[in-house]
This record gives sequence, structure tokens and C-alpha cells, in this order.
Amino acid sequence: MDFFALTIFSGMFETFAAHGIIRRALESGRISMTPVNIRDYAAGRHRETDDRPYGGGSGMVMKPEPLAAAIKDARARCPEARTVLLSPRGTRFDQHAARKYAGCKGLIFVCGRYEGLDERICDGYIDDEISIGDYVLTGGELAAMVVMDAVIRHIPGTLGAEDAAECDSFSDQRLEHAHYTRPRFFEGRAVPDVLLSGNHREIEHWRMESALLQTLIRRPDLVENTGLTKQEKQVVKKWCRYLESLVSE
Ligand code: SAM
Repeated sequence: MDFFALTIFSGMFETFAAHGIIRRALESGRISMTPVNIRDYAAGRHRETDDRPYGGGSGMVMKPEPLAAAIKDARARCPEARTVLLSPRGTRFDQHAARKYAGCKGLIFVCGRYEGLDERICDGYIDDEISIGDYVLTGGELAAMVVMDAVIRHIPGTLGAEDAAECDSFSDQRLEHAHYTRPRFFEGRAVPDVLLSGNHREIEHWRMESALLQTLIRRPDLVENTGLTKQEKQVVKKWCRYLESLVSE
């Protein structure tokens, strides 16, 4: 899959590309990542990429001509790519969107700066506008990296264990179960016995229960969205019986 990041700060992507799963995905050729400096497409001696807003007011706006030229160039290199603008007014990015984007041939990220882009770029060149949350960043670069990172996890072969992304939080509208590693005892807390039992069926059941409880406590909205499976209902009934026994004493 081919990623392009259109930015005025292309150096920000160097560290992102140099570590861990992203570096390995690049080295294996499963992905390519091209930071594109919008300034290279700007005209004039100063190669300006921004200008004052029509109508007055504070802040600067990204000029349309260099952005249009940079997008056209990236599209020529990957004609099937979707062009995605990072923007606080965009659709909220989530795990479902990450999985969907992983099926694309390419993604061209447009990283805004200042007050954002000239609206005619949004109208004429952008396929999707996405936000990574209800807060305002100084630029779209970090948001593009967040989205790329989440998408890359869903590209087959990029993770060590092939099925790891499927077990991640949100994959089935549940948060992930708790994890433990050695030592068995740490500061007076022991690893649950079942995880040392070697009984895979019981371990699976414990993990399902742990995931469900984590989700009910932290993100009940996810459970409300999907309802409970038959197995989960049994877990909830067991806990209800336990809680009732506490209050009826
Ligand atoms: N004036 C804009 C507003 O109030 O919506 C904010 C512009 S912001 C300072 C500059 C750029 O950062 C945006 O064009 C966008 O590319 C990026 N950005 C900021 N917050 C973001 C968010 N929550 N999600 C995605 N991109 C964001």
C-alpha cells in the first residue's frame, strides 16, 4: 500500500518511518511512504504556501495552487489512492475506518496548517475528511501518522503474529482483555491461576470475561451498540448473582 503525506514539514515523518512495525513494513515493501513537501509545488521566489484570508481576520490560509499541484502529482503516482484531509471537522476516525482503509491501494494525506485549507481544495480534491478527536492540533502531520499507524496494523503481514490486529481492542466492539507476563508475583499481586493452567478453553473463557468486564466498566456504550452474545449473557448473569448476594447480606 502506498502512503503519501502532503505537508510543509516533511521531516516530521522521518522518525515515524524509522522505528518498529512501521520500519519493518517499509523494509519488507508491504508499504511505501512518501512525504511530499507542498513548498516544492509553490511558485515564486519565496515559494509561499499560505496567504491572508479573504474577508479579513486573523491567521493564514493554505493557498490552493500548490496543494492542487501536489495532490495531482501524488495521484499520478498512485491513481487509485484516496485523498484524505486531516481536519477537526472531519468524520471521527476509528478502528472500523482503519480496517476499511487497509483495503485501499493508496492514501494521500493532506496535512493542514494555519487556519486550514482554501475551501476549494476541500470541494474539488478531497475524498474524505477525517478527524482524530475533538481537539485542535497545530497541524495535520501527527493526525496523519496516527491514521497511518492504525491502518498499517491491518495490512496482512505487518504484525508479528498474523492475527494480532483481530484481537486488538475495538475489533469486535470490545476492549481487549488484561495481559500478564513474568514474574508470577509482583508487589503482592499474583497472575490469575487460570493463565498458568495450560487449559486453553478455560484461558479463552477467562479472556472473554476479562474483555467484557473491561468494556462494561470503561466503555459500556460499545456493549450497548452490539448487545451481548449468549456466552457473555451467562457471564453477566453470574456477576449479577454475585452482586445481588453482596447487597442482600
Ligand atoms: N482553524 C481550524 C479549526 O478551527 O477547525 C483549525 C486548524 S488547525 C490549527 C491546523 C490543521 O491541523 C488542520 O487544518 C488539520 O489539518 C489539522 N488538525 C487539527 N486538529 C485536528 C484533528 N482533531 N484531527 C485531524 N486533523 C487536525
